Amino acid sequence: MRVILLGPPGAGKGTQAGTVAAHLGVPHVATGDIFRENVGQGTELGTLAKQYMNQGQLVPDDVTIAMVLERMARPDCASGVVLDGFPRTTAQAEALDGALATQDQAIDRALLIDVSEQELVKRLSGRRVCRGCQRPYNLTEAPSKKDGICDECGGELEQRADDAPDKVKVRIQVYTAQTAPLVGYYENKGTLRRVNGEQPIELVARELVAALV
Ligand code: AMP
Repeated sequence: MRVILLGPPGAGKGTQAGTVAAHLGVPHVATGDIFRENVGQGTELGTLAKQYMNQGQLVPDDVTIAMVLERMARPDCASGVVLDGFPRTTAQAEALDGALATQDQAIDRALLIDVSEQELVKRLSGRRVCRGCQRPYNLTEAPSKKDGICDECGGELEQRADDAPDKVKVRIQVYTAQTAPLVGYYENKGTLRRVNGEQPIELVARELVAALV
């Protein structure tokens, strides 16, 4: 099964994508994580992506599309994938559909996690992410057991540069202008399902899994 997680920054895509992917037994591919890994390793892709990410802007479509298609061509994605943070533009969605169609495949579900703008700003300011394994936490909603330390790998928790208040505003604007139109795109294809993201994490997870059927 090939699934897309749609929703604004801070909706909980990263948290929920892991659960959905584990349920399906397929890889969780998060473009933001791949870009951040490349930034951390100082690769050419990372150097390019960083200029956009630090401004809260999208990395150009050609670079992003090539990166995702390369990742999806690896054997572990043969039976399915959960895409988190991709597509984010109509051009990306069309490129993805085009590439899948050449192999008689398609996106089976687009899951939209709905969250109000007011709630997003609150969540993003409290978000902390593990430097090591990228697992997300929230200072008030979902804190780590030990302050500043990842429950999973013992890594140090940090605030993402693009979670600073001025960057959050830009990212929400970018979502509204460039990514929100994808809701209509997948609605037209009949694959869209909406879930209320302002519920406890476990309940959102249960509704997302139910929406796969
Ligand atoms: P995320 O972790 O999904 O919030 O992504 C962090 C940043 O990575 C975004 O603000 C963009 O700069 C970049 N990024 C992630 N996914 C994409 C995408 N599909 N297209 C363009 N840029 C992306």
